[in-house]
Amino acid sequence: MPHSIDSPTREALRQGEPLLWLNPNYQADANLCHHNLSLFEIEQADQRLRRFAPLLKQLFPELSSSEGLIESQLISAAKLQQQHYPQLQGKLMIKGDHALPVAGSVKARGGIHEVLCHAEQLALEQGIINAIADDYRLLASPAAKNLFNRYEIAVSSTGNLGLSIGIISAALGFNVVVHMSIEAKEWKKERLRNRGVTVVEHSDDYSAAVTAGRTASDTDPNSYFVDDENSPRLFLGYAVAALRLQQQLIEQQIQVDAEHPLFVYIPCGVGGAPGGINYGLKQVFGPHVHCFFAEPVQAPCVLVGMLSEDKAQPESVYQAGLNVATDADGLAVSMASGWVCSIMDNILSGVFTLTDTALFRQLYRLYETEGIEIEPSAAAGFSGPDWLTESAQGKTYLQQQQLVSVMHNATHLVWTTGGLFVPDSEMKTFQRRGAQISL
Ligand SMILES: *Cc1c(COP(=O)(O)O)cnc(C)c1O
Repeated sequence: MPHSIDSPTREALRQGEPLLWLNPNYQADANLCHHNLSLFEIEQADQRLRRFAPLLKQLFPELSSSEGLIESQLISAAKLQQQHYPQLQGKLMIKGDHALPVAGSVKARGGIHEVLCHAEQLALEQGIINAIADDYRLLASPAAKNLFNRYEIAVSSTGNLGLSIGIISAALGFNVVVHMSIEAKEWKKERLRNRGVTVVEHSDDYSAAVTAGRTASDTDPNSYFVDDENSPRLFLGYAVAALRLQQQLIEQQIQVDAEHPLFVYIPCGVGGAPGGINYGLKQVFGPHVHCFFAEPVQAPCVLVGMLSEDKAQPESVYQAGLNVATDADGLAVSMASGWVCSIMDNILSGVFTLTDTALFRQLYRLYETEGIEIEPSAAAGFSGPDWLTESAQGKTYLQQQQLVSVMHNATHLVWTTGGLFVPDSEMKTFQRRGAQISL
């Protein structure tokens, strides 16, 4: 590994010790000029999701109260803050993507957006609809189903991306193949099989499942591969969260500006979901938002990617002496998306890592104080506020960014990324494990 990181941090990384890494390339005022990733494109993605809303409402009854929009709540976490962050200045909040309908995780926005892009394109080409102003409920017609049934959608996943892509694709009538890596939970596979999705089980890690899935899909011209490592469509779908959050902050009269910084802590796997959210938030809030990614100590692939000589060709966590082992299945990724790491170069504030013990402790605390149930991956962000405000590294960041004097106005937003569909018995097991740790 190159020496862009001080050696105590590098040593802690290799030893699997929790740490906070600050991105030396971070620029509060970074220019966001990536090809095809403008604010306009994010707004287009939002518009696309809105065009599809009447159709989604028809396909998924759980969307009737939101008129077909897939969105989560912005939740105040006052009890959790009072009991477990007694020193924290400002306000602790949660962006509740653990409850995102249809897919049950943060993968809903990105995954569903990508499948809808593809379906829209096919439907326009084949005359199911003639213009984007048409009634998209035509995409649920028998003619549309016949069309989509001639095509395949394929994806590789540790579980949640497969759920997201599988559920929406099957609902539209596509043939779906989901390549599951070794971590994938049995209930996630079962849920997909029940919808007619073909689940291919791989005994290898996520990066290997992506390569296998991509290769298989590439041999079939009618197969479309959702490529988690290189997908602007996924990325833009994730970025839409920023527009929605902006609206919710306004509704709750929470300011974000130079006097009111916003700190966001997001669990991170291959990097696409947190990357898209970070990117969208930077478009909306510029220097006033500060994003930190949370990764397991044994699978900090984006941290390793950000430290790699060439971010576009990230090293794997194996090369960093780590082994990927974590019960946070959604974060169990050995190699980050090089494309995302490159985009994160100057807009990501930092990355912190945590042990599985900390993960389950956080999961239980959230349940005990707020009654919110999430999956282990989704609990990773809750160590963020302590890292930022109590560690030497965190304090350095606040000083460098001249934020110390405004911290009493801060909003600390923890992104909870999955959990809605976890079976009760598994949730109870998670909670028991967390409760034992917390004794
Ligand atoms: C996928 C996932 C993440 C991280 O998203 P990436 O795009 O893989 O970085 C976080 N939490 C949960 C629950 C997930 O399923």
